[in-house]
Amino acid sequence: MNEQAYDDWLEAGRLLFAGPISFELGVASLAQLPEANLPEIAFAGRSNVGKSSLVNAVAGRKALARASTEPGRTRELNFFNVGDRLRLADLPGYGYAKAPKTEIARWTALTRDYLRGRPSLKRVILLIDSRHGVKEADREVMKILDEAAVSYQIVLTKSDKLKPTELKQVVTATEADIRKRPAAHPQIVATSSETGLGIDVLRAEIAALT
Ligand code: GDP
Repeated sequence: MNEQAYDDWLEAGRLLFAGPISFELGVASLAQLPEANLPEIAFAGRSNVGKSSLVNAVAGRKALARASTEPGRTRELNFFNVGDRLRLADLPGYGYAKAPKTEIARWTALTRDYLRGRPSLKRVILLIDSRHGVKEADREVMKILDEAAVSYQIVLTKSDKLKPTELKQVVTATEADIRKRPAAHPQIVATSSETGLGIDVLRAEIAALT
């Protein structure tokens, strides 16, 4: 991509998220899913990975994701409508060891069924804490996505917590980790909701899918 094309690509991302964005609904079962009438991008990651913060940063809204994840809503799939052009799906965080087993089973099943069977799902943004790298629970999700041929892209969160050289090492290690995974997008995006690093790139990646 030349410089002008890159600027245009970023600008398309900026414009998409400069428009109206609203919380649509939270669902606790697949029967309640909204009609698959818009392209959908899902955000997934381990609990505490920084998912709510990143959804808010991408949307440029302070409390969009948090507002929908009040107690009782955190185990739901939450949907946001972005200018009637696309839907963001905020999936329940996984790998939270303290949750009761029955609850874990319920939300794992819901998420897995959603990921495998959603015709409008264009891509999963798979969040990895840059301090921790890829964990076993993340590999399980990647396996589901590879098997279902659902495209996914790794986005590193909390990159501000690492020194630039450390961050480079994590990016390189993660690239090696996904090289042989068939449904993984080869490009890894390092982000920080605190500093705004990579948010423009992530917006552009999403806009390019609509
Ligand atoms: P979620 O459970 O995945 O939705 O995670 P949250 O967005 O609630 O964030 C979990 C914790 O990480 C909170 O204490 C956030 O303040 C912190 N956090 C999230 N994103 C960042 C980031 O980009 N940089 C830093 N330094 N902290 C972050």
